Amino acid sequence: MVIKSKEIEDIVNSYSDKITIATLGSHSALQILKGAKDEGFKTLAICEKGRDVPYKRFKVADEIVTLNSFKDILDEKIIRQLQEKNTLLVPHGSLIAHVGIEGIENTLNLPIIGNRNILRWEADRNLERKWLDKAGLRMPKEISDPKKIKQLSIVKFPGAKGGKGYFLVNNHSEFIKKLRILKNNNQITSYDAEHATIQEYIIGVNMYLSYFYSPLNDEVEFFSIDRRCESNIDGLTRIPASDQINTLIEPSYVVVGNSPLVVRESLLSKIFKMGDQVVNVSKDIIPPGMIGAFCLETIVDETLEFITFELSARIVAGTNPFTGGSPYSRIMYDPGMSMGHRIAREVKNAFKTKKQMKMIT
Ligand code: AMP
Ligand code: AMP
Repeated sequence: MVIKSKEIEDIVNSYSDKITIATLGSHSALQILKGAKDEGFKTLAICEKGRDVPYKRFKVADEIVTLNSFKDILDEKIIRQLQEKNTLLVPHGSLIAHVGIEGIENTLNLPIIGNRNILRWEADRNLERKWLDKAGLRMPKEISDPKKIKQLSIVKFPGAKGGKGYFLVNNHSEFIKKLRILKNNNQITSYDAEHATIQEYIIGVNMYLSYFYSPLNDEVEFFSIDRRCESNIDGLTRIPASDQINTLIEPSYVVVGNSPLVVRESLLSKIFKMGDQVVNVSKDIIPPGMIGAFCLETIVDETLEFITFELSARIVAGTNPFTGGSPYSRIMYDPGMSMGHRIAREVKNAFKTKKQMKMIT
C-alpha cells in the first residue's frame, strides 16, 4: 500500500531532538552528507557491506549503518532504527537502482526530502515523455515499430542501467541481429528486449543541466552543467575511423565519471525556461510537484536547440564535480555551495519557518 503523506507528517512531528540527514553510501552521498554537516545536521551514511570506505575516510558521516545489501533498508527493523534517530532520507540514483520504486513508494516509511511519488515518473519512460511533452520540451523522436527504423537510432533498455547494452542501428535487420547477439550473450533479458526503446540518435553536445527548485521561494535556480564520461564510447572515439572499421567494437554508454561544463551565455535564457516549464507541469501532474534537485539530460544540436532525452527528479551524480560550488552557484551564493549543501540549507530554512512539510513526503 502506498505510504500516505499523513503517516510521514506524523513521523516528522514525532522527531524531537536533532534531525539526522541520511543517504545511501553511493552516487552523490559525499556532498549530501558534507552539505548537511555544514548546515549543522547530524549525518548518517547507510552503506552496503564493503562499500563504506569513502564515507569513513572522508569523515562526512557522524554515523555509519552497514547493511548486507542496500535493499535491506526496506526491513521494518532498520526503518524503525532510522526513525528513532530522527532521520530524513535524501533520495538519489542508487536508491532508485538498488531499492526500486515500489519499495520507495510502498515500504520505505521514512521521511524523504523531495517528492516520493515523482520518482516513478523518471523511472518510467512513458510517464517521463508525457511530462516533458506537456512541458513543451523537444525530445528525440521515438520509433515504436523496429521495422520503421530509417535513420541512425539508439536502442535503450528499461531502468537506470547506466547505458549498459545500448546500441546503435540504421535499419530493422541490424536491430534484429544486434538484439539477438545481446540476448545470446545474456547481456540483456527477454524483458529488456521486449521493453526496448528506440530513439532517433541526436548528434550534438551532451549537457546535463542541474537545477534546484526551492518550494520555500517558489523559484527555480540553475545550478550546474556536467558531461558524462562513458565507457566504451569515449574511448572508441579516440580510435581513428580507419581502425574503427576493422575492430567492429559495439559502443556502450556505461557511466564512469562526470566532468564540468559551462554553456554559451546566450543559451541560459532557454535553460531557465525549460526548468520553469518542467516545474510548472509537475505541480499539475504529480502534486505537490518537484521539490529540490532535478536534472534535464539534453543534447544541444548545431541549431542551438536543446533536445531532452531524459529527466531525473532528484540529485544527479553530475553535481559531484561541484562539491565546492559551481560557476553558476557561485553567482547566487557564497563560495562552496554544492547541490547537497543547497538541499540541507532549504531543509534548515523550512524547519526554521515551520514549513518542513513543503520539503518532505
Ligand atoms: P551505483 O550505486 O554506483 O551502482 O549507481 C547506481 C545508479 O546510479 C546506476 O544506475 C548508475 O548508472 C547511476 N550513477 C552512479 N554514478 C553515476 C554518475 N557519476 N553519473 C551518472 N549516473 C550515475
Ligand atoms: P540514458 O541512459 O538515457 O541516460 O543514456 C545514456 C547515454 O546514451 C547518454 O548519456 C548519451 O550519451 C546517449 N544517448 C541517450 N539517448 C540518446 C539520443 N537520443 N541520441 C544520442 N545519444 C543518446
